[in-house]
Amino acid sequence: MQLIQINAHTWVIQGGANIGVISYEGRCLIIDSGMDKDVGREILQHVKKLGLTPSALLITHAHADHFGGADYLVRQTGLKVYATRVEAAVMSGPILEPLYLFSGAQPPRELQHKFLLAKPCSVDTILVGNEKILDQIPLQILSLPGHSSEQVGVAFADTLFAGDAFLTPAILDKHRIPFYSDVQAGLTTLNTLKRQTSSFKHIVAGHGEIYTAEQQANRAIDYTIERLESILKDVLNALADGTPRTTADVLSAVATSQGATINALSQYVLYQTTVQSALSTLYASGELQPIFQDNQLRWQRVGKA
Ligand SMILES: [Zn+2]
Repeated sequence: MQLIQINAHTWVIQGGANIGVISYEGRCLIIDSGMDKDVGREILQHVKKLGLTPSALLITHAHADHFGGADYLVRQTGLKVYATRVEAAVMSGPILEPLYLFSGAQPPRELQHKFLLAKPCSVDTILVGNEKILDQIPLQILSLPGHSSEQVGVAFADTLFAGDAFLTPAILDKHRIPFYSDVQAGLTTLNTLKRQTSSFKHIVAGHGEIYTAEQQANRAIDYTIERLESILKDVLNALADGTPRTTADVLSAVATSQGATINALSQYVLYQTTVQSALSTLYASGELQPIFQDNQLRWQRVGKA
């Protein structure tokens, strides 16, 4: 992992995920903790080299690759952990992540690897998502729902840590269908974020390159918006002839259209979540309706029956 200095008070430790480090009047806030103990150890090594003692850890959202190292950091330093309510629930009961991905049923072992199932970590302080101070550090917590239901970001001075609110084009091209538990909330978050990037000199996404210009960040945000909108369009196209289709059929059509090839259970359930949230979004906006045929749940375009 590589330590990148942003300014006199801010660093990013770049690895599988981007870890933020903020130092302010003797306090030191870490943003996200990477996937596991090994990442936690590397974070501590870097922070110690800077002569800092971590006092707080903020988890942007409870995906294993963002909070898996939290337990190690707490044990080693006793730092205080902050997260929003739903994310905190998953952190203290991490089986919830593979469990919700498998519709609440006992998840098969393929869904219980460290990318989806992290070590538990309890949260000391539940965030509302609009705090202006955390661990005595003046900052702004931003509510960024969509990728995860109660995801937050952090604005500190000229730097914005955006969690996984948007993904870089390289990552989007690799994953084809980005993970969103709420496509509609995600689009609202992205459009709001786009109007805020001009206030920052550094924009740090949860993974990938750090943006130092509003235009670069907005290009990535626009690309994420485009991908989500194209998924919504693919769902409508899959149902365009008026024939009611199952979620599985819609998922298959969307994946093909997005250029994805599904060959693993984890990939299937991650894509399925995004497609289900697209179905849910289009149902809420009155464009689709669920119907039941042959003991199957099928989706139908409204007005096309
Ligand atoms: Zn994530």
